[in-house]
Amino acid sequence: MDYLAGLNPSQRAAVEQTEGPVMIVAGAGSGKTRVITYRVAHLINKGVDPFNILVLTFTNKAAKEMRERIMKVVGLEAKNIWMGTFHSVFARILRVEAELIGYPKNFTIYDTDDTKSLLRAILKEMNLDDKLYNVNHVYGRISSAKNNLISPQEYNKNEAILAEDRENGRGQLGEIYMTYAQRCYRAGAMDFDDLLFKTNVLLNKFPEVLHKYQHQFKYLMVDEYQDTNFSQYLIVKRLAAVNENICVVGDDAQSIYAFRGANIQNILNFQKDYPDVKVYKLEQNYRSTKMIVNAANSIIANNKNQLEKNVFSDNEEGDKIKVARAFSDNEEGKIVAEAIIQEKSIKSYNYKDFAILYRTNAQSRAMEEALRKLSIPYKIYGGTSFYQRKEIKDLIAYFRLTYNPNDEEALKRVINYPRRGIGDTTVEKIIVAADQHQYRIWDVVANAQMFLDGRSFTAVSNFALTIQSFQAVGNSHSAFDTAMHIAQHSGILKDLYEDKSVEGLNRYENIQELLNGIKEFSEREDIEEKGLDVFLQDVALLTNDDNDKNPNADTVSLMTIHSSKGLEFPSVFIVGLEENLFPSQLSLNSRTELEEERRLFYVAVTRAEKKLHLSYATSRYRWGTLNNCEPSRFLDELNPACLELEFKPRMPAKEDDGFQSERVTWQQKDTFSKPKPKAMKTTSILPKAHVPTAGFAPSDTSTLQVGMEVEHERFGFGEVVNLEGNKPDMKATISFKELGQKQLLLKFAKLRIV
Ligand code: ATP
Ligand code: MG
Repeated sequence: MDYLAGLNPSQRAAVEQTEGPVMIVAGAGSGKTRVITYRVAHLINKGVDPFNILVLTFTNKAAKEMRERIMKVVGLEAKNIWMGTFHSVFARILRVEAELIGYPKNFTIYDTDDTKSLLRAILKEMNLDDKLYNVNHVYGRISSAKNNLISPQEYNKNEAILAEDRENGRGQLGEIYMTYAQRCYRAGAMDFDDLLFKTNVLLNKFPEVLHKYQHQFKYLMVDEYQDTNFSQYLIVKRLAAVNENICVVGDDAQSIYAFRGANIQNILNFQKDYPDVKVYKLEQNYRSTKMIVNAANSIIANNKNQLEKNVFSDNEEGDKIKVARAFSDNEEGKIVAEAIIQEKSIKSYNYKDFAILYRTNAQSRAMEEALRKLSIPYKIYGGTSFYQRKEIKDLIAYFRLTYNPNDEEALKRVINYPRRGIGDTTVEKIIVAADQHQYRIWDVVANAQMFLDGRSFTAVSNFALTIQSFQAVGNSHSAFDTAMHIAQHSGILKDLYEDKSVEGLNRYENIQELLNGIKEFSEREDIEEKGLDVFLQDVALLTNDDNDKNPNADTVSLMTIHSSKGLEFPSVFIVGLEENLFPSQLSLNSRTELEEERRLFYVAVTRAEKKLHLSYATSRYRWGTLNNCEPSRFLDELNPACLELEFKPRMPAKEDDGFQSERVTWQQKDTFSKPKPKAMKTTSILPKAHVPTAGFAPSDTSTLQVGMEVEHERFGFGEVVNLEGNKPDMKATISFKELGQKQLLLKFAKLRIV
């Protein structure tokens, strides 16, 4: 088969070893991603059904590119491969299985903004100081708990965790986590971490579901395996347990997401989990010149914790790496922009052959200004995406409510936009009512007569009618027709149309653009499900690199190093090589963090195919003040023979940072000092799904007696154990089979006597 001719012997061996566990840990540019791509094509050529293949990538863009390449070899069959990021693949599975774990099929995916907005609301309700309980910190803490599969209940039972929080003066984190989880559940919403956490819950609690997917995914492949966290690791391990046809590829030297819970131990555990694993080594770098590969090797040699690898290049020697010094960040931008113009003409490159990589998003400003001055077209990855704009989020909030009316963040966003006389106090009343009676938000909104009066009642019930009418349209119309109907009848289009300012016009056009996007989506031929609900999910899962509307445009790419993983460009500029910026100030206190920062530099350097430029400024504005900057220690660590300084050297004497370079070999790998992952804990925080058997209305309490069996709309079956108070405020204590005892106010409780 001649498509295998594009592989070297080890790559080919790894591609042809389709059965059993396979691991490739190899350096940058050695063809790991290529091996996965060819392996999938090879499997399909051998007759494996694409539906039985699952490939997990780090970005949606990587998945898309891989699918296109495979399509060239095997044709349209490639459409049916399960391929995408962990989040998108398991969101798709959760949509099918959600009801088992008590979520609606159309659950909402809360994005980072929704999560933070909900956390802020909770902090406010709990009267907590938002400086001490910084919302990003709280979010990080909850996220890391979920990624280690610690449920809110377990968190609140874990003395060590609670003690740590108390020591840091944040003793209420456990309670915040609990409330946050309950509020998401009530809203039928999952945040990004939940998509993995709940998948684990699902696979753990429902063996029949696990079996179904174990048999469906006969072949599993994972790219960038070094950046999987514990939760992802466990999903893969569970799914692969029956067939064990699992192939993972990664590079420990490119592990750059430890701060988000990625655990390099997963690579090392692989050999323990699958003792008969076949390990392949790829040592030849096909991407870069010898110069660049040598430079990259000299950087990573400074890290103590690494697996020994030989990486060499057979490509041309290549030019030396240019190092430029600028007086300021603006001058640095100018140097970069001018170098692009010059190199483009000398080498006959296109703009899209260049990338500018930086440590932090804030650095893009100076670069952008300089590029604009020289009329160089550019594109920023991971900037404010189209879908983050206010008007787009507003319309999307209406879509979300149409499919999941309990989505509280969407409701808060648009219940009074466009203005319809529903003030903050009314919204608060609605939320308090839901809290008090353990109702979902829509139960309150749709039954406003029980909770509100006068004008606010009329306004809220009109709003409820509007959403209900959208639901009716959604049930019987295409994605585009539904979206158009909602844009018109929500009042958003009219509101924006009436705003004749330039910004207003812009917003109106953005809405048009969104509708165009939905039209295209509903006409796509490569997917089966084309409902507006599916579109919503795709949007929620766009990663930073995906808001690239025109991937073929000839533009210079600007992005953070984190988003550059897996990519390659003929000419790369790494800017801002200064102490306290790169390595970042926050990383200077521990070896582990400094080493992660160094791996980040290694990732950056290895993106370059032919030319690499490094630069730093001697002064830079940060947080509004002008600071003097020292060149980054990483410049000192590079093999000086690879460098060409574009100024008189002013390098500081090489300092000993106290970190001895010492390699860990393959044989010694067990001595890695990273902590082992905690034992699996997956007690579900969720009640079992309850599918109600009949229509419910607030109960007729007149005949209710202690000892009677009842069914509640959401809590399921239970027995009345106590009745107290007088009508109309009579309360019943009911012992539910799944959920234990709850006290309900009968005039609101939707009960049925069984
Ligand atoms: P990274 O660690 O950065 O993700 P990688 O190991 O995944 O890199 P690839 O992106 O698969 O490497 O390959 C790097 C480049 O080398 C690609 O352009 C790829 O097409 C090319 N390449 C890989 N193997 C070969 C080969 N055998 N012959 C020719 N080109 C190859
Ligand atoms: Mg790769």
